[in-house]
Amino acid sequence: MAQLTDDCFAFSGPLLRLDDMERLIGERIVPVTETEKVPLHGARGRVLANELKAPVNLPPFDNSAVDGYAVRHADLRADGDTTLTIAGRLTAGQRETLSLEEGQAIRIFTGAAMPKGADTVFMQEDVKVDGDRVTVPKGLKPGANRRLAGEDVSAGSTVLPSGTVLDAQQIALAAALGVTELVVRRRLKVAIFSTGDEVVEPGTARGAGAIFDSNRALLTGLLDRLGALVTDLGILADDPGMLSAELRRAATGHDLILTSGGMSTGEADFVRKAVEAVGNLVFWRVAIKPGRPVALGVIPAGSGQSAAFVGLPGNPVAVFVTFVRVVKPLLRRLSGARQDRLLPLPVRAAFAYRKKKDRREYVRVALRRAADGEIDAVKHPQDGAGIITSLTETDGLLELPEDVTSIEPGARVGFLSYAALME
Ligand code: AMP
Ligand code: MG
Repeated sequence: MAQLTDDCFAFSGPLLRLDDMERLIGERIVPVTETEKVPLHGARGRVLANELKAPVNLPPFDNSAVDGYAVRHADLRADGDTTLTIAGRLTAGQRETLSLEEGQAIRIFTGAAMPKGADTVFMQEDVKVDGDRVTVPKGLKPGANRRLAGEDVSAGSTVLPSGTVLDAQQIALAAALGVTELVVRRRLKVAIFSTGDEVVEPGTARGAGAIFDSNRALLTGLLDRLGALVTDLGILADDPGMLSAELRRAATGHDLILTSGGMSTGEADFVRKAVEAVGNLVFWRVAIKPGRPVALGVIPAGSGQSAAFVGLPGNPVAVFVTFVRVVKPLLRRLSGARQDRLLPLPVRAAFAYRKKKDRREYVRVALRRAADGEIDAVKHPQDGAGIITSLTETDGLLELPEDVTSIEPGARVGFLSYAALME
């Protein structure tokens, strides 16, 4: 179902840099084109198919930003207090419009339309009222506390570009403009498998040498957050024939097939054979740690359609890292979403670390406020890619760039929160 160009991922270098991988995704993956209309309440997480142009101004009319008194600035004395006559009262939502004559003020409340002739509003806390007279101080600038029609959005302007991933704030903007439904791209359909003779379903009997499957739970949660429709195809034994058959079956009706396990060097041929038997595999030995062995391929589904295939490593931490750094950009591209640039935030390393040059490394860290007010990143004590508690006991990942080979305590490093990575 995925629209992949023929020579998709024609890359055969030794280790693909993440930058190059992202560029390849941008160049070679063609987003799905089908769209549907959804009501605003069902739009969260969806990808806007067309740009949204504002049908109206926001605010739609000039109005007061405070509870107070609307005046004509020209009536005010520059050298002292001015006393004005209160000529009326305007509350929010009132249909009637009032106008202001020279020497008058109008009692006004937040959100009420500005009376004709008034250009400035005094906050009620700043004035003295005596019967139908109000005394206002000097010094307020013309236009103070007045919200102009169109100052937020001017009618006809583009407020959301196509490819926007809709969250609560974008939906609120659409609602403010009176929009009730949006055209979005269809959801992506993703099939997931776990592989491994040792992997069993939680809740079933676990024999000697077996472990419960955590990767499908992890992938389901991550895919769900990205708005994909997940088909859970269970656990496959380490059997290339069976894997091939299952991959071929899953290619129909899915945009992407994700597997975990069976990718480590000793087993690489197992996945390669299985995928190559039914499609084309280009090994992505991505320059990333954890998670270097990540395979990507295309599996035809008949009638010119095909599904993308990504084979993830088996260890849960490697699954997490490769998902957020490899699968997520691919899914975003397929979904028609604009690629959001991840911006690591600067924090201070509270540990020393050595790494190999030419690969990007992700270090699980917890954040802590140091005595001097800085934010320290504390590395999880266990490095292993199978240590699943290293994901639950930390706040996010430090991103150590390719050219870095070591960091010392006190170094400025880039931090990506789990929330930012999964968004
Ligand atoms: P593999 O890449 O298949 O050699 O797997 C690497 C490690 O990840 C092994 O220790 C596996 O037992 C483990 N692993 C593989 N799949 C899963 C899974 N679905 N859930 C938890 N651990 C897994
Ligand atoms: Mg395995």
